[in-house]
Amino acid sequence: MYSRKIVDKALALHRFGWSNQYVARACGVSEKAVTHWINGTRRARAKDAERTAYCPRCDDAQLDAPAYSYLLGLYLGDGYIGAISKGVYYLSIICSDTWPGLKAECETALARVYPVSVFKVQREGATEVKSTSKHWPCVFPQRGKGPKHSRPIVLEPWQKTIVDEHPEALIRGLIHSDGCRVTNRIRKKTQSADGQADYYEYPRYHFTNASTDIIHILTRGLDRLDIAWKVHVIKQEPRYRDRHVVSVSRKDAVARMDAFVGPKY
Ligand SMILES: [Zn+2]
Repeated sequence: MYSRKIVDKALALHRFGWSNQYVARACGVSEKAVTHWINGTRRARAKDAERTAYCPRCDDAQLDAPAYSYLLGLYLGDGYIGAISKGVYYLSIICSDTWPGLKAECETALARVYPVSVFKVQREGATEVKSTSKHWPCVFPQRGKGPKHSRPIVLEPWQKTIVDEHPEALIRGLIHSDGCRVTNRIRKKTQSADGQADYYEYPRYHFTNASTDIIHILTRGLDRLDIAWKVHVIKQEPRYRDRHVVSVSRKDAVARMDAFVGPKY
């Protein structure tokens, strides 16, 4: 016999479109049990309020680790947690309308990490992907007053475990938010056979952020994958924070990054 809480969690995850296999893994039960709960009438369903109280942290669920690592990257770059009222929060991630694929990937990751309803708010040139819950500070404990560069951003041990196991997803999320893949073109002195100008092309990755803690989270991930990087500082006027730019430009390092990041889409 499983507890009411486990059954309700399984039904809630199912309702948000998770496969039976994943629901079973997240709840630590067999797929057969999940199928039975979904199809059976043996147990009456709990009230909506009880079902939506599920939290991926407080309820000790098994997080979808790669989706979490990616979403953490997005949150550290372009995310914000605000309070709606006492104890109720919203997570907001700004997605540029230039990259519809990234917007879809953000929504998918959000649904995998925490199956609460997602809504979108159109802004100028961008879409705010939002979700409301009292548990967002459990999922991202880095929530705090003021911009992220004005306070320490330190990962909790359970978050470190996840990103150490899935550094690729974290780096992908960071580059998709505050980073980019650019191609530098340099004209060759020689011309090609048909007389046209010839170019060398150097693809590279950049990540720009004012928080040295967030820069460190990225470079720690790159180090785990043995991907070479450099960092330089862009000095700003005194009233602004200096920006730190991590660049990955060595040919082999760019090729490694291309395997799991690639251009925005
Ligand atoms: Zn919680």
